Formats: sequence, structure tokens, C-alpha cells
Amino acid sequence: MTKLAFIGLGNMGAGMAANQAKAGRDVCAFDISAAAMDRAAELGCRRAQSVADAVREADIVITMLPAGQHVRQVYAEEIAPAAKKGALLIDCSTIDVESARAVAAQMREAGFRFADAPVSGGIMAANAGTLAFMVGCVEGDFAQIEEALKPMSRVTLRAGEFGAGQAAKICNNMVLGISMLGICEAFALAEKLGLDPQRFYDIASKSSAQCWSLTTYCPWPGPVPTAPSNRAYNDGFMTSLMLKDLKLAQEAAAKAGAAAPMGAHAEGMFALFERLGYGAKDFSAVLQLLRGDLDALS
Ligand code: NAD
Repeated sequence: MTKLAFIGLGNMGAGMAANQAKAGRDVCAFDISAAAMDRAAELGCRRAQSVADAVREADIVITMLPAGQHVRQVYAEEIAPAAKKGALLIDCSTIDVESARAVAAQMREAGFRFADAPVSGGIMAANAGTLAFMVGCVEGDFAQIEEALKPMSRVTLRAGEFGAGQAAKICNNMVLGISMLGICEAFALAEKLGLDPQRFYDIASKSSAQCWSLTTYCPWPGPVPTAPSNRAYNDGFMTSLMLKDLKLAQEAAAKAGAAAPMGAHAEGMFALFERLGYGAKDFSAVLQLLRGDLDALS
């Protein structure tokens, strides 16, 4: 039986670890939160006493942690000293490209195989085992990484060498933030011009404005019944997480010397929306800010 360690059992990690256990893998799990540990145990994982305890016997180690500083610390101080040499270490957290590359270099040096494998898809996809993984790794390790991620994934794509998974994720989410704002702005203008929003949707979805933010995740309630706009913008991709990804994109752009002015503008808009108190709402709720009707969110 494959021995797997899972570190970080929060909103995303709990469902991901549970899907590994459901697939028949021996999952030894650890989180610093006692409540997260209880939930993971209920979902079929074994309790570890520490990160070191969780990874000691593992062939595969998967981490799903909040940010770069947690990933750097957990890998350097807890995983590297305790894990079996040759173990496959996969970090699925969304972190900055620089941290991903630094951790990869340290782990390779210490005799491990490593991949940065951030995900697209939220808590529902994590629970359903339908996440999309974008992987930065040595090419020869990819088949094994794909196999390791299978119980949690809809699709797994190799983006390139170390850090490329994180680069793909922040570039993708920068487009998403920008495109959502564009769609919201267009709905707000259409409304002011007296155009029926459903008619605008019908036309734009068959014209050159067609995109994922419109036809899969429509911010105007009605046209796409499964979109968060139909459930008061709850249970979606939180504004605070979109803001996190846009910040990572801006930091990366500054370090790489790339111009990303639309991304910067999107970061500013979502930062404003968060500061107004809507960080926990789905990011498509920014439509109501552009319409000047935040009361629609109360
Ligand atoms: P979360 O805060 O719910 O979970 C993180 C978990 O890590 C927490 O349970 C925390 O206790 C644990 N943790 C922190 N430090 C630890 C340590 N030293 N040792 C062990 N456990 C530790 O966050 P989340 O929503 O599950 O997101 C995790 C990652 O996935 C983030 O990088 C996030 O950006 C990314 N992500 C989240 C979503 C989403 O919709 N929530 C979607 C895509 C990607």
C-alpha cells in the first residue's frame, strides 16, 4: 500500500487528503490545528503527532499550506530532516515562484524529488477530487507525480521546470481577475444603457466577449444557474484569495521586470472590495461594487 503523508488539512487539504484515503492509500496526516486533525481522522486519515512523525515512513509527501513562508519553514525545518531519502515531495499550496524554486533546490540538494503543483478549483473541487494541477518538476518525475495526484485530480499538466507550476497558476489567475472585472464592468454599463442583462448575456456569449468569466461564472444572477452569483456570491472563490494571487502576480512581475498594469489595476479593485468588508464573498460579487449597489450583498 502506498504510504502518503499529508500536511495542511484546511479548507482544501481536508478533502484532498480524504480522497487519497478513499483511493486506498495509507494517509498519515498532520495539521497544527486540532479541529483540522479531528476532521481528517473522521475522513479516514491516520493522526500524526507532528510533521516529522507524518513523513517518516512516507513514499509521497503532499503539503497544502497557506503561503510561501509556511512552505519554506515546514520543508526546511520539518520535512527534510525527517523524510526518507528519495521520497517524492509535492507542494500544492499557492506560493510565490521564488519560494517554490528555493524550496525545490534545497530539497533536491537534500536527496528528495520535488514538485510545485498548485491547483485550479476551489473547495468543492477539492472535495470532489476534480482539481486541475499545474506542475513544475523534472520531466522524468512527471508520470509518478501525475499518478500520486490522481485521486484528487480532474487533470494534471506539466508546466515546466521548478516554479513553472506556480508561474502558470498566477498568470492564469491574473487573467481571471482581469476578465471578471471586464465582464462586471460591461454588465454594469449594459444595465445603465437599459439593455436587458439576459439579452446582453445571450449576445456576448456568442460574440467576441465570450470567456470563462461570462459563460461559466457569470457575475449577473440568472444566466448561468451554477455560478456563485445565484447563491448570494457564497461558496465560490473568495475575494481574499483572488487578491492573494493578484499580489503574487504583481510581486513576480516586479522581480522579473515585466509590465502587468491591468493586473495591478485588478489588484487595486479587489483590495478595495476586500477593505469594504467583502473578502469572504466570491470575487464575482465585485459586480455590485461596479453597479454602485453594495446593498445587494447584504
Ligand atoms: P486554510 O488556511 O484553510 O488551510 C491551511 C492549513 O494549513 C490550516 O489548517 C493550517 O492550520 C495549516 N498549517 C499552517 N501552518 C502549518 C504547519 N506549520 N504545519 C502543519 N499545518 C499547518 O487554507 P486553504 O483554503 O486550504 O488553502 C491552502 C492553499 O491552497 C493556499 O495556498 C491557497 O492559496 C490555495 N488555494 C486555495 C483555494 C480555496 O478555494 N480555498 C483554491 C485554490 C488554491
